[in-house]
Amino acid sequence: MPELPEAETIIRGLQPLTGQRLGTVEVLYPDVVEEGPALRQGAEGSQIVQVHRRGKNVILDLVQGDGARPSLVVNLGMSGRLLLRPLGDPSPPPTHPGLRASVARLDGTPVGELVYHDPRRFGRIRLLSARAFQAWSETLGPEPLSAHFRSVDLEAGLKRSRSPIRSWLLDQRRIAGVGNIYANEALFLAGIHPETPAAEIPSERVPGLHRALKRVLRDAVAAQGTTLRDYRTAQGWEGSYGTALRVYGRENQPCPQCRTPVVRRVFGNRSAFLCPRCQPEPEVP
Ligand SMILES: [Zn+2]
Repeated sequence: MPELPEAETIIRGLQPLTGQRLGTVEVLYPDVVEEGPALRQGAEGSQIVQVHRRGKNVILDLVQGDGARPSLVVNLGMSGRLLLRPLGDPSPPPTHPGLRASVARLDGTPVGELVYHDPRRFGRIRLLSARAFQAWSETLGPEPLSAHFRSVDLEAGLKRSRSPIRSWLLDQRRIAGVGNIYANEALFLAGIHPETPAAEIPSERVPGLHRALKRVLRDAVAAQGTTLRDYRTAQGWEGSYGTALRVYGRENQPCPQCRTPVVRRVFGNRSAFLCPRCQPEPEVP
């Protein structure tokens, strides 16, 4: 499932879209597109003024002919890909295109197409007005790679919750962009058991968790994300962080620090991976 590093990699690959114009928009999977007819009408002919990211969502800021500035918000779900296909791209066309938009220069010269591909169809594409975008963005937590995300704020948030720390990290209202892979990896680096109640993480351990989150996310962005199955960059390439994973998906394999076999635990409907020695169970009070 694409998380922050995968979304960041995709938006970097989509930067050539900036300043270009969307032409014909085709909705092929109406179930992944919210209000398809209105979205088509709003997007067609708009200029893309910025491609950016909020949490794990890819955002295309548009400006319409009348000056309105809506945003196309793409949540990649489990298996969504956003592919930028230049004109005459020799690679085979995507097998599960959910939305396709032609892209042209401002003078009308066609340059290619933007394709949203999603075999499992858990993704979602919405066109939000500037005001609706602002309201939605405010429901999300801070961006963990921004300077505004400070250890003291993380500590204040943790103190208010009894949720297991892994679940807390996955809650997009707490921090935007962290999913199961990077939550598990950061908790391993910080030496914290994933089931530790958030409020019970001692203050002196919080800076370590804060550092671990930033490090794991930054390294994964540098590796262009993690491809386990479906994720690809905007150019169709695989991310290479998979080989750097320390515990995620490594059940029964040796911990990179102490060689104890990695353990998988299921809670909150998701697998957690941990080293039972480096990440001791929280003490029952
Ligand atoms: Zn270990």
